[in-house]
Amino acid sequence: MCTQTQQHQEATSDTISEALEIVSQVPLPPEKSTIAKQLDSLGYLNIAEQDSTIMVSLMYARADNFTGKVLYTELQEAYLHPDAMQCLLKAQKLLKERRPDLTLAVFDAARPMRVQQVMWNAVKGTSKQNYVSNPAHGGGMHNYGVAVDITLATLEGDTLPMGTKIDHLGKEANISNETTMVRQGKMTQEALDNRRLLREVMKEAGFKTLPSEWWHFNLVSRNEARQRYKVID
Ligand SMILES: [Zn+2]
Repeated sequence: MCTQTQQHQEATSDTISEALEIVSQVPLPPEKSTIAKQLDSLGYLNIAEQDSTIMVSLMYARADNFTGKVLYTELQEAYLHPDAMQCLLKAQKLLKERRPDLTLAVFDAARPMRVQQVMWNAVKGTSKQNYVSNPAHGGGMHNYGVAVDITLATLEGDTLPMGTKIDHLGKEANISNETTMVRQGKMTQEALDNRRLLREVMKEAGFKTLPSEWWHFNLVSRNEARQRYKVID
């Protein structure tokens, strides 16, 4: 019995030293931002760490968003509340069952209130301010970590046509007028089919649509979010 234990220990220590050797050869991931560490400590989950097949491309970490400015100077990771994460993982699974050649592509997720303030300051007093939740009024669902801005992409990382870009300001982004838009030649049938596929998997996984933005999905209503979740400072 004793001998067996010793053998087991030897095998284990061999395995550990082999494992350490392998680990030392793997390049270290980039250092996490302070915001990412804060979100980790609060229990929010990083999409990249939960399902590496989901594409993440945060639009506010680049200047090609509707404000024309880099708003996420620090946050480079897409985080969600665990309840929303569970549904997102389900949506990716449902999509993969239907279309193994596609992936969900996340363009925005949890947004701490101090980042919301930066966004608000960028649009305050302009025609774009109606598209941004005012932090003084409690912010929006992204601030609770229960909303995602999302589209479909190929495995090579090319996003599918959806009729407009994500974050398009205008009625073409609305989901209630799509068949008319196709009839009037303002949107292709292919784009409509893509929007429908995205909505199908997201709704089946438990998300709710937002009529004015085809790319935005909420886990719960605003009232439910206020009752059940906290905004991220
Ligand atoms: Zn959104």
